[in-house]
Amino acid sequence: MAEHLFSKKVKCPYCLKESVTPRILSRHIRPQEVAKDGYTTYDGDNPYLYEPVVCSHCHLVFHDAFDKVRKNNREALETNYLSRISPESLQGDRSPDHVIHLYKFAVLTAQLSGQKPSVVAMLGMRLVWMYRLTGNEASEKEWMKRTLDKYNEVQEAYTDQVRTGLPYDQLMLRIADLSAALDLYEEARRWYGILLSSKEVSERIRTQARSHWEDFRLEHT
Ligand SMILES: [Zn+2]
Repeated sequence: MAEHLFSKKVKCPYCLKESVTPRILSRHIRPQEVAKDGYTTYDGDNPYLYEPVVCSHCHLVFHDAFDKVRKNNREALETNYLSRISPESLQGDRSPDHVIHLYKFAVLTAQLSGQKPSVVAMLGMRLVWMYRLTGNEASEKEWMKRTLDKYNEVQEAYTDQVRTGLPYDQLMLRIADLSAALDLYEEARRWYGILLSSKEVSERIRTQARSHWEDFRLEHT
């Protein structure tokens, strides 16, 4: 294993057995620039390439954000994923192309195993960033649309931060930013408007919303 990596022990949310997965040592994680939507460039290896985990026992692809798979979701996962997956297709290095493949499996297993919609949306956002990393603009845009749909679904069913998985103001900013990136002017304007006028929004999110809205408006006048 390369000297900047270590083996992390992780527990599978389905079979509950332990596997090891490579992760980057924190002192080797050197963020450079953060884009509006959170996409970060790194000097050196990219930690997003190490997030999807493959269980070496049952071959589930999962993410640290997954909750333990509940009894009533096990069958769907077994029928539609575990009994069909060929372990060879999950083998590979941590190249962006292979990791994109793993993130897509993670989206599937998250949906089948009843993970929070915010987790599915987060994985979609990772795919947007992975396609940006590889310069595949068409697929980046496609995943932006899917992820925006997912975040809209999360927003419509929002209850609270714990059950939904993220704070409401952060969610609104995600929707506003994705709408702006997809040039959905009216949608972006509406969400930035709410973010700038609502009392429920934290100072940090409001500051970001203001600057993103200013940039977006300038581009559209
Ligand atoms: Zn497992």
